[in-house]
Amino acid sequence: MPIVTDEGFQADDWARAGETLSWRAGMIVPLDVAGCALDAIGDKGTIGIEIASGEEIDQALSYGPRVDLIAVRFEKFADGRFFSLGRRLRDAGFTGRLRAVGPLLPDQYAFARSCGFDEAEISGAHAAKKTEPQWRTAAESIGVSYQSGYSHAAQKTILEMRRAARRGTSAPFPSDDQLAVWEEVMAALDLPGRLSFFRSRIEGRIVFTTGFGLEDQAVVHAILTEGLDIDLVTLDTGRLFPETYDVWAATEKRYGVRITAIYPDQDELAALVAHQGINGFYESVEARKACCQARKVEPLNRALFGSAGWVTGIRADQSKNRNAMRFIEADRARGVVKSNPLLDWSRSETEAYAAEQGIVLNPLHEKGFASIGCAPCTRAIEPGEHERAGRWWWEEENKKECGLHTS
Ligand code: SF4
Repeated sequence: MPIVTDEGFQADDWARAGETLSWRAGMIVPLDVAGCALDAIGDKGTIGIEIASGEEIDQALSYGPRVDLIAVRFEKFADGRFFSLGRRLRDAGFTGRLRAVGPLLPDQYAFARSCGFDEAEISGAHAAKKTEPQWRTAAESIGVSYQSGYSHAAQKTILEMRRAARRGTSAPFPSDDQLAVWEEVMAALDLPGRLSFFRSRIEGRIVFTTGFGLEDQAVVHAILTEGLDIDLVTLDTGRLFPETYDVWAATEKRYGVRITAIYPDQDELAALVAHQGINGFYESVEARKACCQARKVEPLNRALFGSAGWVTGIRADQSKNRNAMRFIEADRARGVVKSNPLLDWSRSETEAYAAEQGIVLNPLHEKGFASIGCAPCTRAIEPGEHERAGRWWWEEENKKECGLHTS
């Protein structure tokens, strides 16, 4: 099992007691056999003890310095009891290593560090769901607080630290006044100028999420021809049109880049399909939103983890909701500053830019697909229909967003 520490993934230097009961120093044993294990090794070293998140700590502490590590096991990431158990162990004077064992998330690792934990033991499958930099960023966000102790006073800044971990930068979030000034500047610039200005003002990683439609292709072109340090990411829902995959490949070939694909969480997707069926999203708005949540929103949150900025290809006249958006705005829930550099462009202006620049476009646009998303949820529109009328066409107009841009 990988061990997550402030340095990233590490090999475990502790052994697990097997069924044989052949105990030795440097081994982690269940609490109920700790006394026997200590008797067996005598004065030849120390052991580690594993306890469950709901267990009392008195017995574990009664062995004093002969126990050098306490591993607190929990079964679900929603089980918050192990946080307080860590704090109680530290408050009671335990100075050895404290380890969380279970399906921890990077954010929770940061919080666990503030509660006195030193490390986390997670399954290989769980570790593979997040990149090592995500774990390390979370770890770094807690370092200063932890040095001053895991005291309750440190809790005041945990929310801020978790947000900083998500953003991947310690730079303060811009104030509303600052954003208002930037909004004015961006309004006066062209597309490359807006992207360059946004890049220059945001410290840390910026992500552009592309779905390979007309607008996104225009933004990708501007980013790459300007050579801007903005990461290109796409959310592969698994339900995209074959034509979209072709545009993806053609775009990579034209610019000589690789676009990072983020996929839905395998377990979450399996649970969704088991619950509502493979096309369950047609049954109700709730079912459709659950599908968008699993296939788009949760992967987006992962794509933006550790980022300070997010660029989109949104235009204001695409829907009523989008009309209220700005060139630059705070998405505080995701901890990013969001930029919509095409906000005031019309569809025809975007098409003209694409034609002028020779941008690779999805052939579905020519077949009446104005806005292109997942294949089962997108149809071509009729002349005179609004351009997003083909998205989730069976739903009422005011319910048509997938959650990416509405939180
Ligand atoms: S657009 Fe349709 S298939 Fe795609 S995630 Fe949403 S509900 Fe699921």
